[in-house]
Amino acid sequence: MTVLDIDDVDTYYGPSHVLHDVSLRVERDEIVALIGRNGAGKTTTLRSIMGVTPPKDGAIRLHGDDVHGLSPNEIRRRGISWTPEDRRVFPDLTVAENLQIASRVTADPSNAGHGTSFTVDEIYDSFERLDERRDQRAGTMSGGEQQMLAIARSLVGPPVEVLALDEPSEGLAPQIVDDVRAMIEELNERGMTILLVEQNAHLALELADRAYVLETGHIELTAPATELLNDQDVLETYLGVR
Ligand code: ATP
Repeated sequence: MTVLDIDDVDTYYGPSHVLHDVSLRVERDEIVALIGRNGAGKTTTLRSIMGVTPPKDGAIRLHGDDVHGLSPNEIRRRGISWTPEDRRVFPDLTVAENLQIASRVTADPSNAGHGTSFTVDEIYDSFERLDERRDQRAGTMSGGEQQMLAIARSLVGPPVEVLALDEPSEGLAPQIVDDVRAMIEELNERGMTILLVEQNAHLALELADRAYVLETGHIELTAPATELLNDQDVLETYLGVR
């Protein structure tokens, strides 16, 4: 079943046309990767979905309902949750306070019955590292722990139908990337549908079921992730990796 359907989206920053007829879909329980070089438009795609930079044309449908034109808060209340690239945890607040703030957002009635919701206690039960650090100020935690908190914060509050992660591995040491990878795998095993934006193509393709390759604002190709992982030409041409 299609949960999120992006159809022919065109997005601009002022006069600059950044996304050109971008279409992608995410099915229930999938991890879908959106990969591409620096500046390809991956973050802009997420900003378009979340209503932060609303597209000029095209449709964004959640379970068939067009959410294009709604505010970012309204879109979160409908069930699309975004963990932005820069993490943006409140550094002076504790882990518990960061989670409590996010948990106060209420769901849109149309979101009832869909998605997976987490209470703050369920987050602690699922992610021991955050449980151990409940009273620690977020700004004093490692980059990986802050990333885990940022993801956890996207999960509390209204039920999540699609979790959109923007570069969760960015700036993290390889060992810590493994912790974040485990968290994404665990969430998906528990039924979370995930749209994963990554500069780290190998990580994204190892985690994902399917992938879309974005190049200068166009979707260049889409394929099962394992197929792309074994395609040296694609990896070199579009992603600049081997
Ligand atoms: P990165 O991995 O570097 O974040 P990306 O694939 O996420 O890359 P975007 O951040 O979506 O790419 O940027 C796509 C294009 O839009 C780039 O050419 C970028 O310079 C431009 N762009 C991004 N944000 C803005 C903005 N606020 N105003 C104007 N142009 C922007």
